[in-house]
Amino acid sequence: MPESRKGTDPRRCKDASRRLVTDPTRPPGAPCAPSSTAGAHVNRRRPRIVIVGAGFAGYECARTLSRQAKGAAEIVLLNPNDYFLYVPLLPEVATGILEPRRISVSLTGTLPGVRLVLGEARDVDFEARQVHYTDPEERKGSLPYDRLVLTVGSVNKLLPVPGVAEHAHGFRGMPEALFLRDHITRQIELAGAAEDAAERSARTTFVVVGAGYTGTEVTAQGVRFTDALARQNTGLRDGGPRPRWLLLDIADRLLPELDERLSRTAERVLRAQGVDVRTGTSVKEATQDGVLLDDGEFVASRSLLWCVGVRPDPLVDSLGLPTDKGRLCVDEFLNVPGRPGVFACGDAAAVPDLTRPGEVTPMTAQHAQRQGKVAARNVAASCGRGAPRAYRHHDLGFMVDLGGLQAAANPLHVPLSGPLAGLVTRGYHLMAMPDNRVRVAADWLLDAVLPRQGVQLGLVSSWSVPLDTESPEVARVPGGPTA
Ligand SMILES: Cc1cc2nc3c(=O)[nH]c(=O)nc-3n(C[C@H](O)[C@H](O)[C@H](O)COP(=O)(O)OP(=O)(O)OC[C@H]3O[C@@H](n4cnc5c(N)ncnc54)[C@H](O)[C@@H]3O)c2cc1C
Repeated sequence: MPESRKGTDPRRCKDASRRLVTDPTRPPGAPCAPSSTAGAHVNRRRPRIVIVGAGFAGYECARTLSRQAKGAAEIVLLNPNDYFLYVPLLPEVATGILEPRRISVSLTGTLPGVRLVLGEARDVDFEARQVHYTDPEERKGSLPYDRLVLTVGSVNKLLPVPGVAEHAHGFRGMPEALFLRDHITRQIELAGAAEDAAERSARTTFVVVGAGYTGTEVTAQGVRFTDALARQNTGLRDGGPRPRWLLLDIADRLLPELDERLSRTAERVLRAQGVDVRTGTSVKEATQDGVLLDDGEFVASRSLLWCVGVRPDPLVDSLGLPTDKGRLCVDEFLNVPGRPGVFACGDAAAVPDLTRPGEVTPMTAQHAQRQGKVAARNVAASCGRGAPRAYRHHDLGFMVDLGGLQAAANPLHVPLSGPLAGLVTRGYHLMAMPDNRVRVAADWLLDAVLPRQGVQLGLVSSWSVPLDTESPEVARVPGGPTA
């Protein structure tokens, strides 16, 4: 990406190592981007674009920029993991359909021209134009930037319900999905071995709170998974209780944020699978032995899955910038007002929805990915290539995988259900994934013809994946940070 008006721009300045850096967005007299600390070996004659977070928005932004820049800008991607996680298929990992690496797309392998820095941003110094981060070995580093794109996504949302932080498990990252796969398998195996009927019943009861697309998909896949495990388990096959799934939501229908037709399809399919769907119901207290519902019923269970939604990554709050419901305020060009050269998008940002005046875009992959592309374009425009574009996207509908061949979908707002919806949903996921398509399709094929693998590896413990975490993408380790 060429720098604009190279050699004539009055805002052109010298950085700390006396090499020239051009920053068209920097007002005259504003401080220059320093070039020391991380990556000091890098040629700072090129503008450095730092993208924080490699989810849907960050990955797409990096990919688009690398294609456009062709080496004229240095693109740095800061992310705790070396992969982009295709989150919509996470329920299939938790229920043994897909192996974890299928939905983990290598960043270095698919983003040529993008430098990956492993780490978590802890702070941004907007005056000095630096991102401070901690790497996986707890070392501190700093990344100077000329342009910054913040795409740190979201984390589990907590509600002040007693016992939930201690006993519930969220569903936002790979460690949680791996924990859940093992946990479910273990509960079925322990139930199969238990003599006590009450214990067998509690261990085969799974409570999911929140019937948005995450809770609905986890339940739909979960009930099939536990049925498959129970069929393989002699202790349960011969007269044991059938695993029981409860799906609760305080709203009066499943998928309350989506088209009502999707809700009806989802409810019909889940009930046919034997799921106990409870709308207008919530949790009053969670304990080690079960869940007290707000109607007074106590459900004995060892498994409480918390899918009530997400909140923006806590980094946003620490920046001291204006927010809307915790999301960083940006304009329709994805600029952070008052911070030249800083952009934000995806779940972490409150992007004005120009198709619904007065609203902000919902937290979906559909929006995050497209915003990433627009952010890339506008970063390029701020460097003198092309014109900036306002973000505008009409919702293309939604797809909810209901397990097996079932799904509820409304692509382009045409309502679909049954195997056709299932086919469209899987086809969409394959198209939307940036890589690993053949591997994913192969796992689907294998799952169709082979029994589900009922083994637990036990590599992720309950303690490593607390519900209240700032980093659902990283499992906690002994001696590591507690956040
Ligand atoms: C189970 C589940 C199923 C879903 N299904 C769908 C679906 O079918 N369709 C749909 O449209 N949406 C779906 N969503 C929502 C969708 O996944 C999110 O809206 C989307 O991931 C948001 O993209 P993002 O880029 O803003 O954030 P993310 O994809 O969450 O990416 C954020 C990235 O930032 C990184 N990060 C976080 N903090 C830091 C930090 N401090 N420093 C550096 N990096 C950091 C994270 O590790 C991550 O890589 C689903 C969500 C879940 C949980």
